[in-house]
Amino acid sequence: MAITLDDAGRARYALRAGESRLDLNARLGQSLRLVHSGAIACTHCGRATRKSFGQGHCYPCFKRLAQCDTCIVKPETCHYFAGTCREPEWGERHCFQPHVVYLANSSGLKVGITRHTQLPTRWLDQGAIQALPILEVDTRQQSGFVEMLFKDLVADRTNWRAMLKGSIAPLDLCAERDRLFAALTGGLAELRERFGADAIRTLDAEPTRIDYPVLEPPTKVVSHNFDKTPSVGGTLMGMKGQYLMFDTGVINLRKFTGYEISVE
Ligand SMILES: [Zn+2]
Repeated sequence: MAITLDDAGRARYALRAGESRLDLNARLGQSLRLVHSGAIACTHCGRATRKSFGQGHCYPCFKRLAQCDTCIVKPETCHYFAGTCREPEWGERHCFQPHVVYLANSSGLKVGITRHTQLPTRWLDQGAIQALPILEVDTRQQSGFVEMLFKDLVADRTNWRAMLKGSIAPLDLCAERDRLFAALTGGLAELRERFGADAIRTLDAEPTRIDYPVLEPPTKVVSHNFDKTPSVGGTLMGMKGQYLMFDTGVINLRKFTGYEISVE
């Protein structure tokens, strides 16, 4: 699923199937059915796999690729300097690049990290209604250390049920940033001492607001699963984060990356 942000701050959803794209915003309120054929192809090497590992990989790729290593989820555990990076060149291209630390409001205040190129995609994936970049650092590992610091005071995960139900109270993200910077002065100073005074830079960005196409949010969140029910559908009630909301329940399409799906 491709999610983009238009100039008016609205999230636009398209379902990718090979070369064709289905505009989901235009299908709101209409009936839509997705049927899984049973086939799953690794998104990296294309080979057929009976089960998907790490969101769309075959088992050999899952064990071999640096992007599937646990240090991607926990960047502070980066082991490049120990000489054990699974793919050092991939690491140099992806991890030894500037990363952004941001605050977002998905199911309440959270902290997150990503590369510049992943904004605003990362926020759209998480169903954030507001987001604000606050710091820029030189490497992914450094962003992990900064995130660790913030995690004592802020969540780093989204409560997806609350995110889908909506009615999330707007936050003053600039005020939250200032409050957190004040509380973490000592910790940030220690990281600057360790990595160099210029390694962790304060950003002066404007908050982004995002509207999602939702006719009516679910009152009770029931989730569909292609592994259990290959045919999923109903009236399309909305899209938020990586979820499609039907009147029959919701489905997280990210979880089923690589699944062969036909649209009816
Ligand atoms: Zn593979």
